[in-house]
Amino acid sequence: ILERSARAERLESLGQLAGGIAHDFNNLLAINLSYLEFALERTTDPETINDLGRARAATDRARDLTRQLLLFARKEPANAELIDLNSVIDETRALLQRSIGAHIELVAHLAEEPVIIRADRSRSEQILLNLVINARDAMPDGGVIAMEAAPVDVADEPARQPSLPAGRYARLRVADTGTGMPPEVAAHIFEPFFTTKAKQHGTGLGLATVYGIVTDAGGTITVTSEPAVGTTFEILLPLAPPDEPSSPSGAQTRHCQVRAS
Ligand code: ADP
Repeated sequence: ILERSARAERLESLGQLAGGIAHDFNNLLAINLSYLEFALERTTDPETINDLGRARAATDRARDLTRQLLLFARKEPANAELIDLNSVIDETRALLQRSIGAHIELVAHLAEEPVIIRADRSRSEQILLNLVINARDAMPDGGVIAMEAAPVDVADEPARQPSLPAGRYARLRVADTGTGMPPEVAAHIFEPFFTTKAKQHGTGLGLATVYGIVTDAGGTITVTSEPAVGTTFEILLPLAPPDEPSSPSGAQTRHCQVRAS
């Protein structure tokens, strides 16, 4: 069990700062892109088309990056509402199936009863999106991704860092049969800007964003991974009290647990 390091905390503030300027940057990039498009429309010179095309590709990539920084910084206030995790899985499944390709099977295990949490819907979708896209990237030769929602009883678990108060929680799991990761990688995956992917593919912000969303909502996230076997992410979020729809969400936690075997 590894505690979140001070380095991760520092990187998080850096990310927040970068998120602050990302908004303006994003707008400037949008202007840049439209001028590049105008210029591309006006020219027939192959070399100019080639140069402008490269400029457009780089600008596209910069826009992706600033979008991810914005998501990570979460400047928009959370719009907390009562949502059923079953329906979040169900509704994002079609979108996800399209982005993972036919060589990967995406299965959903929904709970028989509703799994109601008080959370921001688009942030909850973002969690699934980021976890499933990572799972896809870990399965170049195909495999299975399972998404699961279930209400669970959590007993006092002294081993959990930090210990969640005993009670009923919503459990969200995303499991894959991919490459898995060694413990020295698993130890850093929630740190902003940590990536093992090629520069043009990874930003290292996906899991840092998921971590932030989960802890903001009073939940915990753990990972279990075995090289060549696969990886499972497990998130526990406070279940909304059935008869108190306007009560605030659960206690804040600032730690996570990393289990890698
Ligand atoms: P990025 O995807 O941009 O690299 P993330 O924060 O989403 O950033 O992920 C950080 C790193 O965690 C990845 O580069 C990868 O090494 C590792 N990782 C995340 N999810 C998985 C997974 N399902 N299987 C194997 N490795 C993973």
